[in-house]
Amino acid sequence: MQVSGKVLVCDSINQAGIDSMKRAGLAVDYKPEIKPAELASSVRDYDVIIVRSRTKVTKEVVDAAANAKIIARVGVGLENVDVKAAEAKNIMVINAPEAASIAVAELAIGLMISLARSIPRADSEIKRGNWIKKELMGMQLSGKYLGIVGVGSIGRNIGRMAKALRMSLIGYDPYPINPEFIKETGMIITDLNTLLESADFVTCHVPSIPETKHMFNAERLAKMKPTAYLVNTSRGEIIDENALYEALKNGKIAGAALDVFEVEPPTNKQLLGLPNLVCTPHIGAQTKEAQELASVVIAEKVIQILRGVI
Ligand code: NAD
Repeated sequence: MQVSGKVLVCDSINQAGIDSMKRAGLAVDYKPEIKPAELASSVRDYDVIIVRSRTKVTKEVVDAAANAKIIARVGVGLENVDVKAAEAKNIMVINAPEAASIAVAELAIGLMISLARSIPRADSEIKRGNWIKKELMGMQLSGKYLGIVGVGSIGRNIGRMAKALRMSLIGYDPYPINPEFIKETGMIITDLNTLLESADFVTCHVPSIPETKHMFNAERLAKMKPTAYLVNTSRGEIIDENALYEALKNGKIAGAALDVFEVEPPTNKQLLGLPNLVCTPHIGAQTKEAQELASVVIAEKVIQILRGVI
């Protein structure tokens, strides 16, 4: 069944979703270069506004979107959309939370191995002519305890991948964890402090909400083993970066890897200068597969909503 409606795409998204909306009969205007100042004056006629993370859908934009039925974020968080303002006008706000799940889990595994084997340091030293083999004694993942904080979609994917690497799993989540997953992986469920005291690697997959802000503070970091590694691919606010700096500098933990930061791009030069910190620029979802899936999932949801199916 064909649908009618006008769609404004404000950020660059994978072509697959655009094609499927056009096939369904929607008129799609693709304007990935649209400037923030032009946005409010451009949205009036559109039924659907689609963004990734660049475009901020502020209250001013929502108020100007007189015909909007849907605001869609091709990705996970909704930090760049004023959801309250949209809901007050009965505009549906949708996203594609599961599309990046595998991509983020694979990055977290990559960061764990990067830390345990000092891959970034080895690479930069060898390219500078330094053969520092003797300084690079590593740690195997096999046989180690992986603590997963937040056992949702990404947490479960990393759990399955870690099992294939013969790691043992410890999990903490304040809400019930999928029983099938526990059966499949043998994950031991525990409280957060026990997890921190026992794990050789800790990986965080919690949402950014008031309860998780700075959940990794000085006190929690002090509970970790001095040989343990911390990986954060969730949201920057969950780690107190000043406390992390002190913990890394003083050897309270062995190392950390961050894909996300309290301020992005990060400005914490002290922290970034540490040799036992590995960083990536928020690339968790940055794979062709995840971007294509997110674009297709959003297109499909938009079509179904406009058809009245959802
Ligand atoms: P999800 O909702 O499937 O899972 C989150 C889990 O955290 C849930 O099981 C929830 O019960 C648990 N949780 C909630 N409050 C908690 C608390 N106080 N302590 C411990 N656990 C708690 O989400 P997801 O898709 O697995 O995403 C996890 C995180 O990854 C989110 O913060 C998301 O924004 C982030 N993410 C980052 C990237 C990236 O590019 N780096 C990409 C996608 C998602």
